[in-house]
Amino acid sequence: MPSARTAPLLPSSLVVAAVVLTVGAAAPLAAAVSSPAPAVRPASRAAAPPSTGVPRPRVRLIATGGTISNRSGGRLTADELVASLPGLDTWVRAEREQFSNVSSSELTLAQWLQLARRANEIFRSDRDLAGLVVTCGTDTLEELAYFLHLTVRDDRPVVVVGSMRNPSTLGYEGAANLLQGFRVAVDPASRGLGALVVLNDEINSAREVTKTDALRLHTFQSRGYGVLGVVDQDRVVYYRRPVKRHTAESEFDVSAIQALPRVDILMVYQDAPGDLIKAAVDNGAKGLVIATAGAGATSGTQEDGLAYAAERGVIIVRGTRAGSGRIAPFRGATRQAAPMVGNAEGQGSQEENEFVRRMRTTVAAEDLAPVKARVLLMLALSTSREPSDIQRLFAEY
Ligand code: ASP
Repeated sequence: MPSARTAPLLPSSLVVAAVVLTVGAAAPLAAAVSSPAPAVRPASRAAAPPSTGVPRPRVRLIATGGTISNRSGGRLTADELVASLPGLDTWVRAEREQFSNVSSSELTLAQWLQLARRANEIFRSDRDLAGLVVTCGTDTLEELAYFLHLTVRDDRPVVVVGSMRNPSTLGYEGAANLLQGFRVAVDPASRGLGALVVLNDEINSAREVTKTDALRLHTFQSRGYGVLGVVDQDRVVYYRRPVKRHTAESEFDVSAIQALPRVDILMVYQDAPGDLIKAAVDNGAKGLVIATAGAGATSGTQEDGLAYAAERGVIIVRGTRAGSGRIAPFRGATRQAAPMVGNAEGQGSQEENEFVRRMRTTVAAEDLAPVKARVLLMLALSTSREPSDIQRLFAEY
């Protein structure tokens, strides 16, 4: 390591650049906190597209709330969020509407339906709109994003954006995330990729992304799959495309759904009781997602609850609590071939046959995380209550 005495001195031009960048980074926070007037030019003109004199495409912001707008003393509105982005109009003409201004976990399923219907209506009535940006709290952002991925039937981008730090916090990254969300929404390469989640310079598919850390800025990850692309200074860059059905290819029609059915998620853990499963059924669950251990194991003590649910026609989807990995549809004829491990006694008995029959009628979540499997199951139940139909949906979406 060079000593202080031998370390090369920074050229004065670098020192100046560092000072300018520091000022540039702080400005959006100041602008966000004391919006609406944007105070500065963009930090780097090189990041802006060349001016052609042609009006920029229009993108509509639908703001729902979340930390990105949660300024102490009063939440930022959609108008204020847009006003806090200096230089936005070099990329895009932003329109905005306030859908709600609450944290993500406060949004109801009725509001999800309303939001999806609204997004469809906007796209239907505005053929020239380039795309939508939806701001949302990060806690359940991945669920709403996947819901929009399945229900907005248009190939124009729906970009979901949030932030981990609020506008009153030093290092608020919401303004940068929002600007990047607009840039992704306006980029023609974003078409046909479904709903996209943009935070921290990264673009993830709504189907794959999950919040992996309660606090850190790099929380949104697509685990084994990785990002679809990145938002760099000069341009938006994609590396791969989602292959499952979504948006314009989706068969889910929210205009025909009055309300989403109750679907609960129950986790497998040591000695987990079956009575919680029974309670969910007795309280009206039409579907259950079991976040099984590893590749599909339930606790022996949950079997009675699963049998109770199956007898009442409740659809059971098996996912994994492992965080990634695929649960395959059950094809075996015996308990030994089943991933679920209940009481191993009684092979060939009536109990055994019951178990195998139940396994055949449960649905495998494939690689969907339990919260996403729940989203798909709620929509699936609006089209069918037949396990084989629902299994097809889990394979295709
Ligand atoms: N509590 C917030 C929410 O989900 C968290 C966030 O936005 O980051 O609305």
